[in-house]
Amino acid sequence: MNSMKKFCIRTFGCQMNENDSEKLSGMLNSMGYIEVDEPEDADVVIFNTCCVRQSAEEKVYGHLGVLKGLKRDKPEMIVVVCGCMPQQPSVVEKITSKYKHVDIIFGTHNLHEFPVMLAEVEKNRNKIVDIKSEAGDVAEGIPVNHKDSIKAWVSAMYGCNNFCTYCVVPYVRGRERSRKPEEIIKEVKELAEQGYKEITLLGQNVNSYGKEFDVSFADILRMLNEIEGVERIRFMTSHPKDLSDDLIYAIRDCDNVVESIHLPFQAGSDEVLNRMNRKYTKEYYCSLVEKVKSIIPNISFSTDIIVGFPGETEEDFEDTLDVVKKVRFGLAYTFLYSPRIGTKAAEYEEQISDSIKKDRFNRLLELQNSICLEINEAMVGEVVNVLVEGMSKNNSSIFTGRTRDNKIVNFKGETQKGEIVIVKITSAHTWSLNGEMI
Ligand code: SAH
Ligand code: SF4
Repeated sequence: MNSMKKFCIRTFGCQMNENDSEKLSGMLNSMGYIEVDEPEDADVVIFNTCCVRQSAEEKVYGHLGVLKGLKRDKPEMIVVVCGCMPQQPSVVEKITSKYKHVDIIFGTHNLHEFPVMLAEVEKNRNKIVDIKSEAGDVAEGIPVNHKDSIKAWVSAMYGCNNFCTYCVVPYVRGRERSRKPEEIIKEVKELAEQGYKEITLLGQNVNSYGKEFDVSFADILRMLNEIEGVERIRFMTSHPKDLSDDLIYAIRDCDNVVESIHLPFQAGSDEVLNRMNRKYTKEYYCSLVEKVKSIIPNISFSTDIIVGFPGETEEDFEDTLDVVKKVRFGLAYTFLYSPRIGTKAAEYEEQISDSIKKDRFNRLLELQNSICLEINEAMVGEVVNVLVEGMSKNNSSIFTGRTRDNKIVNFKGETQKGEIVIVKITSAHTWSLNGEMI
């Protein structure tokens, strides 16, 4: 029997949380713990939570409920809840009163202190609730246990200053803070030395990077472009109001920066955008997209869209459909508006009924899916650059990988994970392409 202590992490929400979980995993490895897949096999079970929509919170409560029985059978097991949910006082109250089997609760600002909290609870068998209301200095030097061996997330900045009226992120992730350029470069160089081929720079609003040190996000891209071994540099998320010309030209000029921008527009109607506090209009967004397309002709866009924001009329919604038709996104993440406590929009009158929200959501999805299929079908016969991610899940004689604009390609050929190969596209589906290596 292996006597090493074991942990299991369940991660909810965005790539930031995925990256935080990789740090938790790295810290636990340094403490001598090994990772297991199931809570049943673990001495420490961690829920790294998200609260951007109600559904994400409900999932966490569901998992916590299920764990009650396990903790009864295994009282020495340590249960941890961290991430965005505990930054909301109402959540901490609910967990401490209704889920008494939780041992440690902390938020987004003191992740680096987790080893100290865990060591204390292991020793004293006490409970810890430690939520910092404000972020301190950016913590560096946390070991990261990257989930994948060729693609890695790298945080560029944390927090958000935008206060879109629907969004809880600024309340739970604090104000914008950037990592020092040298720290980002050091991390990417180390990843390149370990054989990583693709990095994705993360930030809630990554274009506003570097205000603290007079280094722009475009400068960071240019610096990372020089690092040998990294073949693809991605970044997310870009706010339309902060997508500067300098950044557009950096994307065009840096060979390793992919021609793909995640540019959430959220809604098409100027009225709705104004009430969302997005600080741009439909015309601004569409002309920004046109400008980028004229500078980088092979650019592809992905986006986030919210359906059923308070007061959204049928006409407003048609503006959203209109933007989708005009821009022709390669990928769109579509969300039903979910009121979040503490945000302005949750107080707005004229909340939209679930049935209208769902009807609009389905119409939007249908439109976007048909565009995805058209874009993919137009690629049949094209020759693309694919970063090989491994064998296809369903068929062990087929490889799977991604194009520079992140489309999934399943193909026949002789290769291995981490290689970049040339593939001719032979057929298309809505969510993936088929091809043959040439
Ligand atoms: N920082 C990123 C992502 C933030 S959260 C950005 O600015 O784009 C990811 C997405 O969740 C958002 O882009 C938005 O589309 C969606 N979202 C945020 N709050 C939401 C809410 N209350 N209801 C529904 N969707 C929401
Ligand atoms: Fe939320 Fe808006 Fe900040 Fe994105 S930019 S994290 S949507 S407040």
